[in-house]
Amino acid sequence: MHDADTVHDRVLIVEDEPKIARLVADYLEGSGFTADHLDHGDAVLPWLETHSAEGQPPALVLLDLMLPGTDGLTLCREIRRRWPGVAIIMLTARVEEVDRLLGLELGADDYICKPFSPREVVARVKAVLRRSQAAPHAEADDGLVLDEEGWRALADGRDLELTAVEFQLLKVMMHAPGRIFSRDQLMDHMYRDHRIVSERTVDSHVKKLRRKIAEAWPEREVIRSVYGVGYKYQPGE
Ligand code: CA
Repeated sequence: MHDADTVHDRVLIVEDEPKIARLVADYLEGSGFTADHLDHGDAVLPWLETHSAEGQPPALVLLDLMLPGTDGLTLCREIRRRWPGVAIIMLTARVEEVDRLLGLELGADDYICKPFSPREVVARVKAVLRRSQAAPHAEADDGLVLDEEGWRALADGRDLELTAVEFQLLKVMMHAPGRIFSRDQLMDHMYRDHRIVSERTVDSHVKKLRRKIAEAWPEREVIRSVYGVGYKYQPGE
């Protein structure tokens, strides 16, 4: 998918330690990425709003946990909710924090502990982007295609006749194959007006969605439930 003509992937570094930020930015730029840097938590969401509006969203955000202003946890949740296509790697100061972060179901794609080598960061950024950018490929190979303008999902060309909510659920999960979404995260995407629904409502919509996919493809299970956590889209294997 990547060739000389593709736009360089933009990586936003959110880090309040200037030395670390500079070092990581240098290595990323040396590897062909465009790196931007913010050192204050409050600057992140406005920056994303502006750049997304200009059609220049970052492919990935390297997000420090401890920041002045809005903290990394809150930012991670907000980015995941508002820009599900943007990958996130959290930077944390301690190994022990990773377990806690994983338990919070923030939806980050990866975690890196400080101190890290800038080479390791570049390798992890590439790995995460490879995974997330494989998505459109996987969709095509899989035979399940989203017609986002028409709010339709086609399985081998056949319209699954999804409701708006079912379409929205499938779209969110398909944009991040393999990523586990909690019911809370899915709820955020189901309704534009963020009305309050119960987790059971999410389950019932997912159940209907799976049934419609199963009618087209009895042999495949692309929406998997992950016990105690939520759901994920797993393209055909
Ligand atoms: Ca920090």
